[in-house]
Amino acid sequence: MNDWTKMMNTLDLSRTINGFKSQGQKLLGSQEEVVGLRIRHPFLLLRSVLLISLLALACNLSVGVATSHNETIGLATTEVLEAPSLEQLPSELPGETLLSTPAGSQAAPSPNASIQPIGVFKLAVIVDLSSELVSREQAHRVVAEADQILLDQTGIGFTMVDFVEITPDSRVIDLASDYIATHPENLPNGILIFSFGDENTARSYGGYFLTLPAPAGFVNEYVSSTYGDNQIYVAINHFGHRYAACGYGDEEVDAPVQASSFNGECRNLDGVACVENNGYSMCCNAVDNLYASTPTYFTASSIVHEFLHPFGPNGVEDHYYTPTCNQAMAEEASLRRYSEEFSLEESESYNGLCPYVYDNLEFGYRP
Ligand SMILES: [Zn+2]
Repeated sequence: MNDWTKMMNTLDLSRTINGFKSQGQKLLGSQEEVVGLRIRHPFLLLRSVLLISLLALACNLSVGVATSHNETIGLATTEVLEAPSLEQLPSELPGETLLSTPAGSQAAPSPNASIQPIGVFKLAVIVDLSSELVSREQAHRVVAEADQILLDQTGIGFTMVDFVEITPDSRVIDLASDYIATHPENLPNGILIFSFGDENTARSYGGYFLTLPAPAGFVNEYVSSTYGDNQIYVAINHFGHRYAACGYGDEEVDAPVQASSFNGECRNLDGVACVENNGYSMCCNAVDNLYASTPTYFTASSIVHEFLHPFGPNGVEDHYYTPTCNQAMAEEASLRRYSEEFSLEESESYNGLCPYVYDNLEFGYRP
């Protein structure tokens, strides 16, 4: 399997964190399969559905009765899964290797002056000027927000070490491989590309990730047991992605066309009232959620999500509250907090990922 195929196999069409958008992962050339989330506690599910339906109705009085067309409301809706691939099986962990700090890194100051990070995950940020404009200051601020989120979970933080604006000649992912080719002596741990993505993938889903091999001799301080120690982690994120968008009907529609949800919005609950929040039209029952806590929290959370994915061995099954996650957590794969039943608050606090992924990042750090 060549590098290109391998890279595409790592593509994660992610980010719709347990309900407010669909989540999924795709392999080129493989059959896509849509499955529902395993139901651990049917009674609790029913209770969750009732609770959420009532909540929806409570902020929905002016727009009529909400109707459901999905039986898994309240839990993750559906995920696009892929055929198992050898590329996704964990490989042997490589031995520890020292990596000196690249000369000339322009580390941005951390906003967490009081917290000494145990490790810094250096990000080069590339803005695809053909998608949407993101200023250096905006990039700096959202990376700082992602830094805070990751620090709170792991003691490891993000730092923006470079900022590049470019219009791609061809595919968006070529921006990442070109960056690697032109910065062989000064490689970051990860490359964050703000873009709609190839085939509009990031615009549709929020973001996705891939890994790219670095030149021979490079060893990433953050070692993935799945992808090895010489990969550069790449996330393609849609900066302006609307969390819990309401009344648009489609991510590519710029202005709301109605005052209540439809077409899968608001966790597949039609008729939820839309309210103006964070500068766009949002499901009224989402405004108090963590992801809506700042205008850019969801983007920051998506950055954490995509850069943590490569540290899980199971692709989309490394998401929060999947069957694989539930089983692993029942077997104490991580000692982090994990509820018996689905918790939206908990899901968002883990950025939609299973808690063990954070442990894997910590274990994989080889300074
Ligand atoms: Zn994901």
